[in-house]
Amino acid sequence: MEFEIGTHRDTEAEAEAEAEVPKEPPKIHRLDESVVNRIAAGEVIQRPVSAVKELVENSLDAHSSSINVVVKDGGLKLIQVSDDGHGIRYDDLAILCERHTTSKLSTFEDLQSIKSMGFRGEALASMTYVAHVTVSTITKGQHHGYRVSYRDGVMDHEPKPCAAVKGTQIMVENLFYNMTARRKTLQNSANDFSNIEDLLKRFSIHHINVNFSLRKHGASGADLHTVGTSSRLDAIRSVYGVSVARTLIKIETSDNNPSSSVFKMNGFISDSNYVAKKITMVLFINDRLVDCTALKRAIEIVYAATLPKASKPFIYMSIVLPPEHVDVNVHPTKREVSLLNQEVIIVKIQSVVESKLRNSNQAQTFQEQIVEPSPSGNIGIIKDSSFSSSPPGPKSQKVPVHKMVRTDSLDPAGRLHHYLQAKPCGPLENNPSLTAVRSSVRQRRNRKETADLTSIQELIDEIDCNCHSGLLDVVRHCSYIGMADDVLALLQHDTHLYVVNVVNLSKELMYQQVLRRFAHFNAIQLSDPAPLSELIMLALKEEDLDPECNENDDLIEKITEMNTELLKQKAEMLEEYFGIHVDVHGNLSRIPVILDQYTPDMDRVPEFVLCLGNDVDWEDEKRCFQVISAALGNFYAMHPPMLPNPSGDGLQYYKKRKPLRNPEDEENTSNNIEDDVTIEDEMEHELLSEAETAWAQREWSIQHVLFPSMRLFFKPPASMATNGTFVQVASLEKLYKIFERC
Ligand code: ADP
Ligand code: MG
Repeated sequence: MEFEIGTHRDTEAEAEAEAEVPKEPPKIHRLDESVVNRIAAGEVIQRPVSAVKELVENSLDAHSSSINVVVKDGGLKLIQVSDDGHGIRYDDLAILCERHTTSKLSTFEDLQSIKSMGFRGEALASMTYVAHVTVSTITKGQHHGYRVSYRDGVMDHEPKPCAAVKGTQIMVENLFYNMTARRKTLQNSANDFSNIEDLLKRFSIHHINVNFSLRKHGASGADLHTVGTSSRLDAIRSVYGVSVARTLIKIETSDNNPSSSVFKMNGFISDSNYVAKKITMVLFINDRLVDCTALKRAIEIVYAATLPKASKPFIYMSIVLPPEHVDVNVHPTKREVSLLNQEVIIVKIQSVVESKLRNSNQAQTFQEQIVEPSPSGNIGIIKDSSFSSSPPGPKSQKVPVHKMVRTDSLDPAGRLHHYLQAKPCGPLENNPSLTAVRSSVRQRRNRKETADLTSIQELIDEIDCNCHSGLLDVVRHCSYIGMADDVLALLQHDTHLYVVNVVNLSKELMYQQVLRRFAHFNAIQLSDPAPLSELIMLALKEEDLDPECNENDDLIEKITEMNTELLKQKAEMLEEYFGIHVDVHGNLSRIPVILDQYTPDMDRVPEFVLCLGNDVDWEDEKRCFQVISAALGNFYAMHPPMLPNPSGDGLQYYKKRKPLRNPEDEENTSNNIEDDVTIEDEMEHELLSEAETAWAQREWSIQHVLFPSMRLFFKPPASMATNGTFVQVASLEKLYKIFERC
């Protein structure tokens, strides 16, 4: 009755609504023991899978080497777990299913060093309050076993002798028979069996020397059957399949520094060839199967940032800590534990995952180098794993680029949106044979000659060697406070405050990420391809100090032509390695994703393209890659938006310069600034809101993209300690001293 909470409450609420006079305070009374136990049981055994978990953990605690599970009706009708463990003494059977009876713990302090999975002595008891439980068991040296059934914590009858081989078999029947509401909800869910299967798969890849099987009652074959092995990878292969196992990379790390963290971790993580929509994270901490949302999230971030395809990973991880560093008693079903120095441990694990992934990406790139050119010229296969030639279309684009492009009504040139929005699509982009054209072009090329990728490795090594360890510590463990002005951010690290130049920092971070993602970029598709020649022209005109001079015009045209031709020639390489796509008509149509969730300021495209044309030394491979990466770094850096910041002095820029006669002419007339009469109160609302969006978006990116990625990936070069990028402004201890005196 107590458990039909829904109906019970409704009637109570109705009764309350009807009663007009305030009631006397309701009387408090002690709940009946059986009610207490059933409430507690409902918490411990939430679904069939929770019962299976408890039973399997008991079998593991009993040192079993074989555990067989049979399930009927998703576990609601029957869950039967048989093991070959040490069994249960005859004398203990009477209290076996009472609450708080256990063989695993005596004093509270024992919890500090507990190695078994159970310790509360609640699981079996709980099951007897919500189901019919029958136990058959035999201990070593006995000729026969005993069988006994339980209800509400006590034996139904004296234990009866029975035939038995070794170990214990526990049968749980009619789960939730006395909890109508729960039974009804569970009956409608089809997931219970697959949850149980998933659970056993997880156990079986950790306890690799135990044989597990799972079978539906009445079925002849098992749905899961594992045999003990000494190789974890073999276990994963047999349970999750070859296709998963072959994408796995082994990882391990440890720390033994009592002032930061003490732990050992080993496991397997999937590489870029694994494809899944959902993360599978099998985590054992001190041999307990647990969830750790913070760690899971941290690893997901690394994957999203390192593997451009951003597939969700498969992770098996076992972490071992001194037992006294783990609080196992924080969750009713023991699903979570809490760890000493959890943050430090997570950061360390994150960084090994990241470096493993990066190395595996690198290795793949090398491999691709070797297989090319294949006799069949089957570029498709190679491209599948390099991601850099996603088909045309906005598939991988997160924010439509045209939305990121400002429309500057004060700028006569109209700038980039002109190209990005108004132009119709180039005919080739719509041509279905485009892929064929591309691959035939590629087949003529020998990539091996174009690049020996050791140069990229050298550039990455230089970043590593040049890394400032003090700043690295600041970068890894700082917290972001906010922007101090348009380019400087405030950071706190320990008790120190730092002012950091966001432009320098983002430029270098982007540069480093370009090298790490080399040849593995996702693409940002421009809504319409922008002609290189016009971009270069635009950039040159901006640089030109004397725009009136016609001679300059000729020169500009020549330079534009040469640069356009040059970049068209280099298009294959730019696409292959940097995800910069220039089509055969010389239109820029795709740019790479360097940090996920971030699209660069498109106003900087002309400058970038000009830099590619002018500054790159195409002969020297390493220099070439370095300069292109730096140019991308500069393009993607989080510069202040070109529109002045409306939340400061920049606001006056948005005041209208001319009284409006015809509001529709607004954009066209606002250029004649000199002649105009300023009207103080009228604002260019559209422009202003655009500027506000651009600045807010940048600040968001700084906080949510730049700093989190920096913590993960950034290797600050030593020069940043002295060139004003990082400046320590105060230490809080000193500030507190000053405040104390005030
Ligand atoms: P806990 O595991 O927290 O001790 P349980 O209610 O799960 O509490 O189990 C109570 C006790 O029953 C255990 O301490 C253990 O001694 C015994 N037991 C339960 N299952 C088995 C089993 N499969 N083999 C041997 N002993 C078992
Ligand atoms: Mg137990």
